[in-house]
Amino acid sequence: MSKMKALVFRGEGKLELTQVPIPQVKNPDDVLLRVKAVGICGTDVKILEGKHHYKPNTILGHEFCGEVVEIGSHVKYIKVGDRVAVDNNIRCGFCSFCRMGLSSQCVEIKFNALGVMRDGGYAEYCLVPEKQCYVLPPEIDDVLGTQVETLATVVNGMNTLQMLPYDYVLVLGFGPIGYLFAQFAKNIAAKVAVTEIDPFRINVAKECGLTVWNPHEVDVIEKITEFTYGRKADIVIEATGNAFAQALQCVTPGGKVLPFGMDSSIRATVVPNEITRWATKILGLYLGQNTMLPSIRIFQEKRLNMGPYFTKVIALEDGLEAFCDLGLDPHTMAHGPKKAMKIVMRP
Ligand SMILES: [Zn+2]
Ligand SMILES: [Zn+2]
Repeated sequence: MSKMKALVFRGEGKLELTQVPIPQVKNPDDVLLRVKAVGICGTDVKILEGKHHYKPNTILGHEFCGEVVEIGSHVKYIKVGDRVAVDNNIRCGFCSFCRMGLSSQCVEIKFNALGVMRDGGYAEYCLVPEKQCYVLPPEIDDVLGTQVETLATVVNGMNTLQMLPYDYVLVLGFGPIGYLFAQFAKNIAAKVAVTEIDPFRINVAKECGLTVWNPHEVDVIEKITEFTYGRKADIVIEATGNAFAQALQCVTPGGKVLPFGMDSSIRATVVPNEITRWATKILGLYLGQNTMLPSIRIFQEKRLNMGPYFTKVIALEDGLEAFCDLGLDPHTMAHGPKKAMKIVMRP
């Protein structure tokens, strides 16, 4: 049986570059992809740290695109040679959430996510169900193609927020998610500011022409009040997972807070009376939902400035070391400042 290179997650703190058998099409609705590019996500960093649900001995990588090299006997719409982006979250289609238009809450979604619970794109090949594949137009190259799923989560957020041209927007945290929200806000809203602590990412924000504040250096509540002529933000997007309390203090009466960043270890105190008194809208949402095609359209028409988004493209073999640039030393599990926005690997 022929083999392929893969980065396999063995368990907490253990990501191993190794040779594994090339997966074979077994299910009639499977397609085999030759992975063209795969992004390293903040979620992958959390998995390596053991801070996200995981399954040992899984090939990580949920942000990927590839070329179809083989198809199962029931595959109908996807052809050999197609270049496709992948929605890694496999939804059952049968539970009441799937059948009532809330597939992000599918009861099976946690158990079979590609690159989390079953083998993903940190490899030369990956097996994907046909219905998870979205054909990419030529305007979207392989590197950008890895980010369709990432953008799909942000588009779900945009659908929920209903951002208006006169909104003041604050984005807490300028990682890849904060970056994408800020680009939308720049296109749509009256004014946008972002916060970030890592110098590298602060510089990327500046490169994008954004107003950026370091919460370790300035009082963000004071800054947003000044920035909005005393009003505070109509929309606060919390893209760190640890600044929900601050988000509530930065939003204007009647405004919206989107808790988007995920960190299950964080607790925040809320005063229900204040939510009522100030008519604050707290909008929870999870993953993308019917947003893969809209995301492809947005990238195809170059609606977002993606220039400074990609820090570097590396070989799969160098993937382990890239975690250092994303704030985690994979050998010691020590944390450091992030020295990259998005890193993409080519298997
Ligand atoms: Zn991701
Ligand atoms: Zn379902």
